[in-house]
Amino acid sequence: KAGGSTIGGDAKVKVAVRVRPLSAKEKKLDREPCVTMQDTQTILHNPKTEKRKVFNFDHSFWSVNHEDEHFVGQEHVFESLGREVLENAFQGYNACVFAYGQTGSGKTYTMMGPPQRQQSQLQKEELGMIPRLCDDIFARIAANEDETIKYKVDVSYMEIYNEKVQDLLNPTQRGNLRLREHKILGPYVEGLSKLAVNSYSHIKSLMDQGNKVRHTAETQMNRESSRSHAVFTITVTQARYFAATKTTGEKMSRISLVDLAGSERHGKTGTTGMRLVEGSSINKSLTTLGLVISALADNSAAGKQRFIPYRDSTLTYLLKDSLGGNSRTVMVATISPSTFNFEESLSTLRYADRAK
Ligand code: ADP
Ligand code: MG
Repeated sequence: KAGGSTIGGDAKVKVAVRVRPLSAKEKKLDREPCVTMQDTQTILHNPKTEKRKVFNFDHSFWSVNHEDEHFVGQEHVFESLGREVLENAFQGYNACVFAYGQTGSGKTYTMMGPPQRQQSQLQKEELGMIPRLCDDIFARIAANEDETIKYKVDVSYMEIYNEKVQDLLNPTQRGNLRLREHKILGPYVEGLSKLAVNSYSHIKSLMDQGNKVRHTAETQMNRESSRSHAVFTITVTQARYFAATKTTGEKMSRISLVDLAGSERHGKTGTTGMRLVEGSSINKSLTTLGLVISALADNSAAGKQRFIPYRDSTLTYLLKDSLGGNSRTVMVATISPSTFNFEESLSTLRYADRAK
């Protein structure tokens, strides 16, 4: 299914793999990368058996060393995946972008960019998908000269931990928010903050605030943010005024950008009580997401009518209206190049492979 699953020639589900650079620690231990890439192929080399496993995706992004002529940076990733999502949003379609992979493989880097402490003005090229998408949305709105169209942008930011939802933009909210379903608008989170924004810097300060809330919850409630899903949603509303009939029509589209929980398996040894519950419910969202995307891909490729198990997890239930139909789905599977992480990389590639 090269080129993704299609309806009328348009790819609706796109799967990309991105391999990050070797960390300083990995480099010191003098390990060779166990990943190579060739065009859209990702090839994983088993360090023990020396067998190769070849996977084919819509994109295979090589980000191992800057010196390499095949090196792919943040801008290229955005142009290959984010640009289309943006175009579609302005046409009124929803989209989801997921970053999937083990902790430390580059999910947050791909979505947001380098951690705060590493950021400076000079590293603009290192900004990830979310800042680039937001900047472009506002640039497009600013460039709009059609006075009959008015735009409104708002954002929400939530965390799904243990299948429960927390508002990251409202630190005073205690406890979990309830899921409801609106007859027309579909599933939603009751009481989730939706804030109107007019620039990326505004969004950035809201996200920083949200990440602090996340961090506080992490330390106070003894939880690990690597085990939760962070869902950032941008809603663009276009209101068009029709002079002839003196009416206004609204078009709304939603882009959800999801930094998924680490895909590494939990609950191996010494995992008891709460930790076990956490592990299994996180797997539930990740597993269900995989099943949903693969069923969607199947349906659109073969014109089948497979049942889509949206309701089986909080994540897929909430994203129901942004998955399938005319929506775009992008999955970026992030992997480490190190032989130490061979097993996890293999499992990530298998998951991504099923999503095609
Ligand atoms: P995750 O969110 O999956 O746990 P991170 O995004 O935090 O992983 O990445 C781990 C580290 O690797 C961070 O220091 C990050 O800046 C770095 N990193 C990840 N991907 C890349 C990349 N493509 N290019 C450069 N550095 C990267
Ligand atoms: Mg992260």
